Amino acid sequence: MTFLDVRDLRVHFPTDDGLVRSVDGLSYRLERGKTLGIVGESGSGKSVSSLAVLGLHKRARISGEIWLDGEELVGADEEHVRGLRGKKMAMIFQDPLSAMHPYYTVGQQIVEAYRIHHRVSKAVARKHAIEMLDRVGIPQPNSRVDDYPHQFSGGMRQRAMIAMALSCDPELLIADEPTTALDVTVQAQILDLIRDLQREFGSAVVIITHDLGVVAELADDILVMYGGRCVENGPSTEIFDNPQHPYTWGLLGSMPRLDRERSERLMPIKGTPPSLINVPSGCAFHPRCAYAELVGGACGYEVPQLREVGGGHQVACHLSQEQRHRVWHTEIEPN
Ligand code: SF4
Ligand code: MG
Repeated sequence: MTFLDVRDLRVHFPTDDGLVRSVDGLSYRLERGKTLGIVGESGSGKSVSSLAVLGLHKRARISGEIWLDGEELVGADEEHVRGLRGKKMAMIFQDPLSAMHPYYTVGQQIVEAYRIHHRVSKAVARKHAIEMLDRVGIPQPNSRVDDYPHQFSGGMRQRAMIAMALSCDPELLIADEPTTALDVTVQAQILDLIRDLQREFGSAVVIITHDLGVVAELADDILVMYGGRCVENGPSTEIFDNPQHPYTWGLLGSMPRLDRERSERLMPIKGTPPSLINVPSGCAFHPRCAYAELVGGACGYEVPQLREVGGGHQVACHLSQEQRHRVWHTEIEPN
């Protein structure tokens, strides 16, 4: 049985301007001990889809299926799903300051999170909080446990939030842009930390990011989202070594790399992400795609379906295998 099995998930928000189709038919699977990177620009539906897994949308119309460890979460009792949050699944946000309460010490917040699911004394929970702070690399956790969030640096706060999320040993950890606000060195440390903890705890991890570089080292599988849908997914090595979708080419091109040559040759992605109220017809990427003309029309009216291209790698694009191969070898990686 797959640990997390998301099937044809749709998350729509009714608004005065119309229906916002934030997620429109998303499917993926994730096993324990594995990491999935969900990648896309802001507004692609990556955060919304994960908040749906956690049961955190109040005003949304949600359809499809979300199976967590054999249990269907779509339509499940709210109280029950709340019980699963923290204990079975937890989330790390981009901005710990907004996720942590300013008036309580870091220690009090970890203690609270822990005691929701564990019947232990405050003293025992506090000891656990200190252990967790130590575990995520906070120096002198015995004294830092009584600090307030604002007394921590950005990187330390992020570590504290990871401690809070992991204090109940969740089987599913969702990290939404966990390092976006941090400088490059701290970013690398936090990513290492997530990887170490994942190995130690054996959790399933979803990392949401707009930056493919963040998941390059970390993810076993990568799912690329555009306009609320998956446009490409597969093993990480496939996505980096054999990318098939023009949007993924663009994301790779806008990624800072050590071998700058390739990114200099690649075109940055022109234009802006689509409106989720009026998603372009056909392939949602077509107004921005430099290759639609090779296909001759279909891109503008026919939604491309995900098709397997080998090795567990799927792509939703009307270009033929041969056309993609030619573009790749003539324009993107000639030689
Ligand atoms: Fe570009 Fe057409 Fe492929 Fe969409 S389906 S990515 S518009 S070539
Ligand atoms: Mg987001």
